[in-house]
Amino acid sequence: MAEYDYDLFVIGGGSGGVRAGRVASSMGKRVGIAEEFRYGGTCVIRGCVPKKLLVYASQFSKSFADAAGYGWSVGTTRFDWSILRDAKDVEITRLEALYRKGLTNAEADIFDQRANVKDAHTVVLADGKELTAERILIAVGGRPNPMADLPGSEHGINSDTIFDLAELPKSMVVLGAGYIALEFACIFANLGTKITVVYRGEEILRGFDNDVRVHLREEMQKNKNIEIILETNIKSIALDGDVRKVTLTNGATLDADQVLLAAGRLANTDTLGLKGAGVEMDKAGNVIVDDYSRTNIPSILAVGDVTNRVNLTPVAIHESMCLIETEYKNNPTKPDHELVATAVFTQPEIGTVGLGEEEAAKQFEEIHVFKASFRPMKNILPGREEKMLMKTIVDAKSDRVVGVHIVGPESGEMSQLLGISLKMGALKSDFDKTMAVHPTAAEELVTSYSPSYVVKNGKRIT
Ligand code: NDP
Repeated sequence: MAEYDYDLFVIGGGSGGVRAGRVASSMGKRVGIAEEFRYGGTCVIRGCVPKKLLVYASQFSKSFADAAGYGWSVGTTRFDWSILRDAKDVEITRLEALYRKGLTNAEADIFDQRANVKDAHTVVLADGKELTAERILIAVGGRPNPMADLPGSEHGINSDTIFDLAELPKSMVVLGAGYIALEFACIFANLGTKITVVYRGEEILRGFDNDVRVHLREEMQKNKNIEIILETNIKSIALDGDVRKVTLTNGATLDADQVLLAAGRLANTDTLGLKGAGVEMDKAGNVIVDDYSRTNIPSILAVGDVTNRVNLTPVAIHESMCLIETEYKNNPTKPDHELVATAVFTQPEIGTVGLGEEEAAKQFEEIHVFKASFRPMKNILPGREEKMLMKTIVDAKSDRVVGVHIVGPESGEMSQLLGISLKMGALKSDFDKTMAVHPTAAEELVTSYSPSYVVKNGKRIT
């Protein structure tokens, strides 16, 4: 008789957990998986997927406006939030079913309830049942920072609840200027909501290339529905009837139908029992793992956002696949967190891979920066002023392209392919040897022959 009930027990049915559970189970391992909410996790249920559907919905307002430039007469248009919200729910339910089906087909045992860790080999389900496993995988992800110290934060919404609003807000204050804040700001602005972004920093999107940050902010500010207030925070939120009265640290007050609190995310580890089991976590509650996603307790592993490495769905999936290699195929494999291409689905969109100019200038003695800002062809006939930014950063010594950053239509799609090029170690001369695809915006990437400027020892010299 087996020593344990399971070979692997996965806590958390999101991208990382489901992948590990499904693959291990299909290899013949005895797998149990517990999820207290819905299978699919943040990405599928209340993150990337529904967000992208909202992005598509919100892009129509621009298409309707631009159509006249191409000879189309568009009649009166009207947006109905409830139709979009409900259609999105149907799609999410379909996807959730696929996630379940994958697990069922692989013959994993699915538990629709919370599980906590009791000790190195035991989990306790919400119904009190205890199950043992040779290995336990923590894949519980995170949740929106509730901003508990902010007076009136209970009157705010977050990136979970925003998807289920009863109606489209006429006005919304957005706290923060990271991925989530800015994506929702653009979505709702284009659906017709008056948006005010309030951000404590001096420029939006900390950590991104500076030109990208400035370019996106300026383009967002051209959207008549978006105001961005920098170097200011929200001091309190009070409810007056249906109106949220928002007081800012600069003394100003704003009235809004909704306040979106998008101040980052926290690991879901508060009451998971990890401390009792001796699992090391950092101060913020993120699980500390080694290069192979192992915690300090040999039988307990962790992947995805709960480990706060690179908090993206494809990364969690990759970490799980590496874990399968390491634990079950006798092929120790470290997840590769270098050169992760990513997109920010703001409007305009950002596609980026590799180092920003500031970071590259620190790492390399001399960098060549190729930069172009232009109106994409599609914007000409409609008279739309929105510009595209393309920036390529090259280590002068090796000629290696170390970063590419794009702001503009389809830049997320471009970043996926750029990710392959950079991962292969592409040189600028490889870019130059590549024939342009004409007419596209992307051809700019392979047709810029001399640097816009050079940065040497951290200083711009031309
Ligand atoms: P981010 O860390 O990107 O942004 C958090 C924002 O909140 C920052 O502007 C931050 O400011 C601000 N903030 C944090 N604490 C406070 C505070 N106490 N008071 C005021 N402002 C505060 O987190 P997100 O929640 O936007 O996104 C979480 C992660 O999810 C991202 O890192 C990303 O990996 C992932 N994600 C990816 C998407 C994609 O791939 N398209 C889409 C959405 C999310 P400051 O900069 O000053 O710290």
